[in-house]
Amino acid sequence: MLSLISSITLVATMTSYKSQVHGHRSLFLNCRPSFSSVAPSARPVPLAKRAAADTVEKVTGLVILVDFPDQKASVSRKEIDDMINKPGYNGLYGTGSARDYWLTASHGKLEYGAVVTEYYTTLREKTHYDSTPLGTLEMFQEVLKGMEARGFDFSPFTRDPQGRLRALTFLYVGAFDLSDSTGRRGLEPVFIDEEAIPEEMAMTFDGVKLSSHMVSCIDCFPDKEKAFSKNISIHEMGHMLFHWPDLYGFDGKIEARGGLGHYCIMSMGLSTLPPPPNPYLRIMQGWETPVELSMTGTGVLSVPSNGRKVYRYSRPDTTGEFFLIEAVAKKGLWAGFPDDGLAIYHVLEQEDFYPEYPIVSIEQADGRMEIEKFINNGGPNDLFHAGNNAAFNSESIPDSKWWDETPSGLAIMNISAVKDTMTFQTGVATMLKAAPAPGIRQLRMIGRTMQLDIRAAGHMQITALAVDGRSYQLTDRPFEAGSHILSLASIPPGVYIVTVNGKDARRFSF
Ligand SMILES: [Zn+2]
Repeated sequence: MLSLISSITLVATMTSYKSQVHGHRSLFLNCRPSFSSVAPSARPVPLAKRAAADTVEKVTGLVILVDFPDQKASVSRKEIDDMINKPGYNGLYGTGSARDYWLTASHGKLEYGAVVTEYYTTLREKTHYDSTPLGTLEMFQEVLKGMEARGFDFSPFTRDPQGRLRALTFLYVGAFDLSDSTGRRGLEPVFIDEEAIPEEMAMTFDGVKLSSHMVSCIDCFPDKEKAFSKNISIHEMGHMLFHWPDLYGFDGKIEARGGLGHYCIMSMGLSTLPPPPNPYLRIMQGWETPVELSMTGTGVLSVPSNGRKVYRYSRPDTTGEFFLIEAVAKKGLWAGFPDDGLAIYHVLEQEDFYPEYPIVSIEQADGRMEIEKFINNGGPNDLFHAGNNAAFNSESIPDSKWWDETPSGLAIMNISAVKDTMTFQTGVATMLKAAPAPGIRQLRMIGRTMQLDIRAAGHMQITALAVDGRSYQLTDRPFEAGSHILSLASIPPGVYIVTVNGKDARRFSF
């Protein structure tokens, strides 16, 4: 696992990098390929307008391996080929190939693979390309022209509707130079979109336009596991294949875009296991179809974990702001998540290059906003579950308000413990005038005890919701008719909303 200090160092690096990209934004879209930069139609389309894709998409890309006269390959072509293509890969780059990743993340709807070339040795030394922001493009042009001159056939790969090679990747040996903290170096991992490439530098060989491409490193962090390098490549593929935005924060301020920490491949994604794309991205690609959540009814809703069901609660008066709710178990692509439980994402689709609010943020159940404060990239109490924070509503911390502070109406409670299939209930525990649930003749507090006078036997689930959003299960078991006493000694004194069998609620201080 990446240490906290390393993470912060990396954040700092990306922060300085970002400010430089800002300066070069007309050229480098990289790790901030804006929607606005790729044509107006490329802004995120409101999800409701997207149809679910039932077809399997096959993408055959081209991966060009590059080494330098002064830095020769130390990883074999076969190893990289396997890391990209081999089903069930387990090798130098950890577990799972890029092909495995996209197949799993897409629920079988994207079959990505690539032809991996032999190493191409550049004319100049590595530092030449790594020392200027234009170094990436110089390498791009030199290598492609050289391959064409040697008779390479660029025609057999997947093209986009404009006739461009859809997935063109350069992987070069070694790392990129992090020593210059003042700005972007030439070979930092990047996705460069066509419009960032000067017209005269784009090429057409064998009838295929070669423009948009990604560049990454074979050993980006020499002192860390190679799996991190694979994750960076997969992250750049997210830009390249789908024009997904970066979703990490980088301003180092609470009010900055926030980011998703290690909860999404388009954020940091630097665990040994690459995290999946967050559900907003998976839905956007048509890989999953959300279930609309309404606040009517108080039934128990179930959420099979890890992409098998995602609930969406949408703002009715605008397009593009909503919450997504899914359950996460630390298995499969989710095995490297910082926490498990019910994950609640706040999404606001925006087309600005530097949007005012995070496009996607994660509601951290402990209320500490440590990701936004750059304290960590996710921690053990981030996701909702019984025993942590088991409620999310307009009064809880964090709360379910929209970004403009108006209440969204989203209120969920009684979130279960972490399980393969979690459960929760909709509806907020507010003060109701209704009588206690059927079966209960009387419910009252006597000091630090709750006295129940039960008329008819039945199963009784009683929950106390604190004003800070924490939820305590007082009992969840059958009761005989008669008088019963429940001790409240294990609950800190305070003001609580008490809910009986998920329905009736009353406010008590105890
Ligand atoms: Zn990026």
